[in-house]
Amino acid sequence: MSGLVEGKNALVLGVASERSIAWAIARRLAQEGANLALTYQNERLEKNVRPLAESLPGTLLLPCDVTDDVQVANLAQELQTRWGKLDILVHSVAFAKKEELSGRYVDTSRDGFRIAMDVSVFSLVALCRSLEPLMGEGSSVVTLTYLGSERVVPNYNVMGVAKAALEASVRYLASDLGPKGIRVNAISAGPINTLAARAIAGFTTMWQRVREVAPLRRNTEAEEVADAALFLLSDLARGVTGEVLYVDNGYHVVGMV
Ligand code: NAP
Repeated sequence: MSGLVEGKNALVLGVASERSIAWAIARRLAQEGANLALTYQNERLEKNVRPLAESLPGTLLLPCDVTDDVQVANLAQELQTRWGKLDILVHSVAFAKKEELSGRYVDTSRDGFRIAMDVSVFSLVALCRSLEPLMGEGSSVVTLTYLGSERVVPNYNVMGVAKAALEASVRYLASDLGPKGIRVNAISAGPINTLAARAIAGFTTMWQRVREVAPLRRNTEAEEVADAALFLLSDLARGVTGEVLYVDNGYHVVGMV
């Protein structure tokens, strides 16, 4: 039987370590027959990503700091040369300065706000614009968000505001790109112990609490997110766009604990 994304070309941004959500998604896509391209932010980080990329034979490894327009354009050019078309884009990238991820949101600095929005939100817009010429009917984009976009989560602060903007961007992008047959969706994942998550003050306490109150009484695993991403990125979700799909063991429906 052929895979759900057999022969599709998939670009995955955001692999930093074996724990990265992007890495779980990349592996799942590879299992289902996709051709993969992974990116790294800079030479220092390349050495973490290269062994992972090499463990999936045939995977392309390309540089892309998403804050650099030239690098985004070069990435699109490289994929145009290598593949000619792109079926799948996974945006699993976010960043806020550590000092913005503790204390009060009201104390967010102008620079901290700008950086969080640029890396975590505008990057999706820039990538969609640069890659649009390579995408067409049946292409699918997925980004990663979190409940802190709509509820106040202690210490999540500017990243919650960035995720709200990211989710709004998903709707606008879905509207812009829909007429070409390109779908754009987000997955709102429950807390997972990754490098990015550990930058948030009190993450471990929050992670433990979620397990106690989520309807399914467990923490979210990256593999669960990857399975949902596979659905959204495959033709099974051909009627779904502009959506935020929760993969959090039901935590978001709980109103009182
Ligand atoms: P992660 O492994 O640390 O991945 C975050 C990625 O963002 C890293 O690969 C990082 O690359 C990349 N990045 C940051 N700045 C960049 C830049 N300027 N250019 C290119 N890449 C850049 O953490 P993760 O938890 O898997 O995060 C992936 C996504 O899931 C994020 O959007 C996050 O907000 C979201 N999410 C996470 C959770 C959770 O609890 N873990 C829950 C819901 C949503 P470098 O390390 O190379 O800088």
